[in-house]
Amino acid sequence: MKTAAACATLGFFAAIGPCQAASAALVEKAKMALASIQNASFVADREYCGMIGLTEANEFIVSPARRGRTSGCDHRGFADPSITPVASYHTHGAFHPLYDSEVPSVDDIDMDYHNKVFGFVATPGGRFWLVDYRYRSVHQLCGVGCLPQDPTFKEHMAGEIPEHMSRREIAARKKTGGARELRARMLAENGSQED
Ligand SMILES: [Zn+2]
Repeated sequence: MKTAAACATLGFFAAIGPCQAASAALVEKAKMALASIQNASFVADREYCGMIGLTEANEFIVSPARRGRTSGCDHRGFADPSITPVASYHTHGAFHPLYDSEVPSVDDIDMDYHNKVFGFVATPGGRFWLVDYRYRSVHQLCGVGCLPQDPTFKEHMAGEIPEHMSRREIAARKKTGGARELRARMLAENGSQED
């Protein structure tokens, strides 16, 4: 984890404290929350999600993870109005060769943009992503195996994953690359034997 790089990416913490300490604390909270639910997410093949808020004492608090759907999860805010939501977090369930789940989705970006919160996403491959709602962009905080990984994950099936992507690039990947490319690769490797 490159704290300095994450801090530069986050940048926003001027409003709530010294950038480095605050961003490192938030990233660490998100990473721990995601690490603790990865396995359940693989076994159930469901997304798990929650929120991270800032208390009046300037401490980050993580809401308990909720179990979502195969693709999608209802992020609920905090009942306590004194807690300011600052980030969402969610997993992407189990590994499926035909789902482009190693990258945050356009919907992920739009949700965080709508709620004006940052987002943290864990993938089946164990990638750890930051969604920056301000620029509608995503940034890999760390790569494959950084978080617990689905034992069925096959890295070569996930295709090329850039470290930074814009919303536009993700939308284009969905249309022309991503899943379609993966499917072609899988068919080329396995003939018609899909599992
Ligand atoms: Zn997602």
